Amino acid sequence: TDTRAEPAPRLIIDLATIQQNYRKVRDLAPGAEAGAVIKANAYGLGAMEVVPALADAGCRTFYVAHTSEGREARTALAGRPADIYVFNGFWPAELPALRDAELFPVINELAQLEQLREQAPDLPCALHFDTGMNRLGLGPEETDALIANPARLDAIDVRQIMSHLACADEPVYPLNARQLERFSRIREAFHGIPASLSNSAGILLGPDYHFDVLRPGLALFGGVPAPGYPSPFEPAVEIDAPILQIRTLRPGDTVGYGATFTADTPRRIATVAAGYADGLLRAFGNGGFGRIGETRVPILGRVSMDLIGVDVTDVDSPLTPGHPVCFLGGDIEDMADSAATISYEFLVRLGLRFHRIYK
Ligand code: PLP
Repeated sequence: TDTRAEPAPRLIIDLATIQQNYRKVRDLAPGAEAGAVIKANAYGLGAMEVVPALADAGCRTFYVAHTSEGREARTALAGRPADIYVFNGFWPAELPALRDAELFPVINELAQLEQLREQAPDLPCALHFDTGMNRLGLGPEETDALIANPARLDAIDVRQIMSHLACADEPVYPLNARQLERFSRIREAFHGIPASLSNSAGILLGPDYHFDVLRPGLALFGGVPAPGYPSPFEPAVEIDAPILQIRTLRPGDTVGYGATFTADTPRRIATVAAGYADGLLRAFGNGGFGRIGETRVPILGRVSMDLIGVDVTDVDSPLTPGHPVCFLGGDIEDMADSAATISYEFLVRLGLRFHRIYK
């Protein structure tokens, strides 16, 4: 379809950049295998397109949160070989579905190990150890019990041991070193089984954190752990939304619902066809910004369901309806910061209404 045939925004997802970011992860940790976390529909960007692109770049290990996401990833792979792990574990009745789609459960407690042994002992799995995040995984007592009695793993096909860092985006936070120390000890106990610790931010903490398998998600899509964080990854997502109208504000005029912005000098404002129905958070109002060329155009007033006002006073080029305003791109973390959130949250909320264009 001609996506310019109506004044609607487009979400442009650059698969070649995602592949390039994947290769950068590999270059950062040449001794490790790079997997890819593609849960939540590949962070909202479309698992059906992103998964095959990553597989074509050489990725052979994928991680999802749910069995249904794993099935979709398996379909997307269309016969390309890959292991798919399901982070959130399973209900016992789900085991046949996991086996049918060749999905490997991540075991988060010892009881699940017994369920696996009874119902699907041939199904490969991963063991997740909680080293300090206190979210999912075998806690310290269960971990010690398993280390003391490794026979509990007899006849179980454990393909990976893993843990997850709680504070990798804050390099100096002491919990990082504590988790590293705990995971290293666990790895010694399960010597020979590939070990996986690091998400995107963990990979940037350096080689000590790399172990055997990396689990980046956000980095592949160009996100960085925090605004200004030095990162080699390139932005892969951009919103391109057309201007519908341009008007001039006089001092005292207000903009949008709730009249939350008041002009103190004359300003030129463009009304753009994108809103919170498309996933541009309401919290971007009076804080977020788009770009026209290189010029930042601040969002004025509240974000409406389908419309946003941006201040184009400083744009030198002539503007007419249809002219595109870009959002996200390299500004993704600053945008998140302006809404007191993180890029993950609004990436996964980028609405279904967008025309999605894959480059
Ligand atoms: N590993 C686990 C267990 C996760 O839950 C996630 C995502 O939150 C990741 C890895 C990937 O994290 P990131 O997107 O920060 O690279």
